Amino acid sequence: MRLCSVAVADFRNISSVNIEPGERFNLLYGLNGQGKTNLLEAIYLLGSPRSFRSSRLPELVRHGERQARIIGMVESGGIQNSVRLDIETAGRKVEIDGKAVHKASELHGKLNAVVFSPDDTGMVRRGPDSRRRYLDRAVYMEDIGYLHCWHSYQRILKQRNHLLKSSDRTGLDIWTEKLAETGAEVIERRLRFVAVLNGKLQHYYAVIAGGSETSRLSYQPDGVRSSERELIREELLELFGRQQRSDERYGTTTAGPHRDDLAFALDDRPLKAFGSQGQQKSFVLALKMAEMDNLHETFGEAPLLLLDDMSSELDAQRNHNLMEFLTTREIQVFITTTERSPALLAAAPHCAVFHVEGGNLTFEGS
Ligand code: ATP
Ligand code: MG
Repeated sequence: MRLCSVAVADFRNISSVNIEPGERFNLLYGLNGQGKTNLLEAIYLLGSPRSFRSSRLPELVRHGERQARIIGMVESGGIQNSVRLDIETAGRKVEIDGKAVHKASELHGKLNAVVFSPDDTGMVRRGPDSRRRYLDRAVYMEDIGYLHCWHSYQRILKQRNHLLKSSDRTGLDIWTEKLAETGAEVIERRLRFVAVLNGKLQHYYAVIAGGSETSRLSYQPDGVRSSERELIREELLELFGRQQRSDERYGTTTAGPHRDDLAFALDDRPLKAFGSQGQQKSFVLALKMAEMDNLHETFGEAPLLLLDDMSSELDAQRNHNLMEFLTTREIQVFITTTERSPALLAAAPHCAVFHVEGGNLTFEGS
């Protein structure tokens, strides 16, 4: 997939930018707070219903303006489409080739992008919810069916929690059964995805870190040992049954896929407790590479890769390993750094260079 051109207006600190990125490497460099991540975010939003940063729409519109616009010419499967996004405080509108798009599924797969940003590494150290959010987003990216069952699960969960809070609990059993049924689908899809990603992770960890440690990603849903939907459903029913007393006491569903965690391990030890900062960064980057590879296989085309703030993320050796690997792949890459790094430019052939300053972009050649 490729972004052939992008025009951004009144988006965060960008008043008006219009660029034609290079087919392979693009470097966006500039001092802190100039709009580098903002531009990556605008690109990301062309293909995704949610930003990788905040999901609050009003923050995206430039201060003092009513509406932000992002228009991109995207290429996938040899076909070019124009994607237009209008963002207002009240909502967002998407058009593909001038036609309004109302369902997330219509935009799905038009412009896949994988982001690696400083914030991502934080998910190793933060609580389970941030890893779960990552997992849900990643599964959805490659599996559009996931969105539907995930939404159903959330809706049923809300209903069940509502009943748990009320004094009249008529119908609780029915909602519990529904929750187990959709929960089983959520878990089955997550398990399938994690198995595929884990199979690729080790390879990419070695590519980036060069180390011999074994990296492992695992998803062990609470109370569930099976991987087949009907059996998962039965196990979830048992879990909800065991938890019912405490659910009633707390007025909420205290266990289930909405509370599950994703485990990261290096040499079978939890990465959070034993991994160095560098190992944690390499692990998350390897995870993103595995995700990229998986999207490539699913869609038959590599997604865009958005590497935010590379100067602060990896040491010189790991950066070099990463760049060396990326040059062997047909991927359009956007990298942001604070300096026009000679080492990076030497490693990235025909890199298009843009200087970012005060929300403006200047093309400096390739
Ligand atoms: P760093 O190197 O520190 O990561 P950056 O170049 O990536 O910097 P961005 O995060 O892209 O910086 O841009 C941050 C700037 O955008 C900040 O100065 C912030 O005040 C500004 N900004 C964010 N949202 C808006 C908005 N809605 N309207 C105007 N300016 C905004
Ligand atoms: Mg930034």
